[in-house]
Amino acid sequence: MDSGGGNVAWRFGAANPALAAASAQSIRSLVHRMYGCVDKSDPRPLAPLGHGDPSPFACFRTAAAAEEAVAAAVTSGKHNNYPTTAGVTEACSAVAAYLSRYLPYKLSTGDIVLTAGCNHAIEIMMAVLATPGANVLLPRPGYPLYEARAALGGLEFRRYDLLPENGWEVDIEGVEALADENTVAMVIVNPNNPCGSVYSYDHLAKIAETARKLGIMVISDEIYDHCAFGSKPFVPMGVFGEIDPVVTLGGISKRWMVPGWRLGWIAMTDPKGILRKKKIFDSIITYRSISVDPAAIVQGAIPQIIANTDESFFTNAMNKMREAAEICYQKLKSIECVTCPHKPEGSMFVMVKLDISYFDAIDDDIDFCCKLAKEESVVICPGSGLGMKNWLRISFAVDPSLLEDGLERLKSFCLRHAKPSTNQGS
Ligand SMILES: *Cc1c(COP(=O)(O)O)cnc(C)c1O
Repeated sequence: MDSGGGNVAWRFGAANPALAAASAQSIRSLVHRMYGCVDKSDPRPLAPLGHGDPSPFACFRTAAAAEEAVAAAVTSGKHNNYPTTAGVTEACSAVAAYLSRYLPYKLSTGDIVLTAGCNHAIEIMMAVLATPGANVLLPRPGYPLYEARAALGGLEFRRYDLLPENGWEVDIEGVEALADENTVAMVIVNPNNPCGSVYSYDHLAKIAETARKLGIMVISDEIYDHCAFGSKPFVPMGVFGEIDPVVTLGGISKRWMVPGWRLGWIAMTDPKGILRKKKIFDSIITYRSISVDPAAIVQGAIPQIIANTDESFFTNAMNKMREAAEICYQKLKSIECVTCPHKPEGSMFVMVKLDISYFDAIDDDIDFCCKLAKEESVVICPGSGLGMKNWLRISFAVDPSLLEDGLERLKSFCLRHAKPSTNQGS
């Protein structure tokens, strides 16, 4: 018998190729890498412009009513049990009523499935659609979890373009060209991460007509619902549910600024019941019954979170976001080597194009972001992580003074690394 264990042939190993393919799509790991570049001895505060989480900043603290609702859910002692599969009934009803406010028809309790954040909703939808041979159309630039989850589940994905010269609208012709008889769905994100755009009523109508023509459903990621601070109002895709079946994904992470509470939802915004007839709803429930639940405490608090949050909280939050977007846009305009094709009007992000030829010894967007993190303690997400090489995604959901400071550091970094010949004007 072997006593030392030195020559045991271990039969396990981390070589799941699907997981490796999925992790290649992970934006978290890319942003994490940028944090790894930061020089810990830099006394300046780190400017976290890489991801959209405003919750650490006092000026973006959630509504007191939302905090009180969670505290009351804890002390009531009524939410310590396992929740039901689709979610606590009162919470589903509250979400159905909340979404119905903005739709031309009423959703019912049974149209809602609660999830552990919107990411969980994405996980479920990509799994449900992964029938043999099927493919989905995803936006580029996009939200990489869709690709990661599709890759993990063996669902083929194809990328359609968002057009910077058209305010980042969907390339409708591109969608039509990409789709074939195996295409089952297209994903849109509105208001848009990473572009900061908001789709007009007419554009959404065009998307619905296109999806109908192709016989595919629309998955509308509306985690930034109502996070619109420009001239266009937010219109839910579900408004067009009569034209084409829509699955709406959402949650409280962004509008209430509590991504750590992990509460999202999937809504069947499909008044004709096509998704039900095609057993999509059943599949969602099946997947949900073998996956995690959002914490019962937060589910229990949802009716009060929705009912008690004053409209003034949202108005204030949007005023602050508009102000931050304005600071960001103006500052970026003063930096020669970046161009911002579209002023942000929603979500918490803006995409800017980097002129790599401007620099002396910077290879690409990833190299740029890594050196920026190292020299200036400013973290930005390289566009490569979103399918857009030599672009940058900048989050402005940051305390305004830190945002300004961070962008000023970005500017001096650019000037310092400019090729001598291109640096004349400054
Ligand atoms: C933040 C974000 C999500 C994830 O939301 P969670 O509720 O935090 O899981 C999903 N989609 C997009 C486009 C996002 O920006």
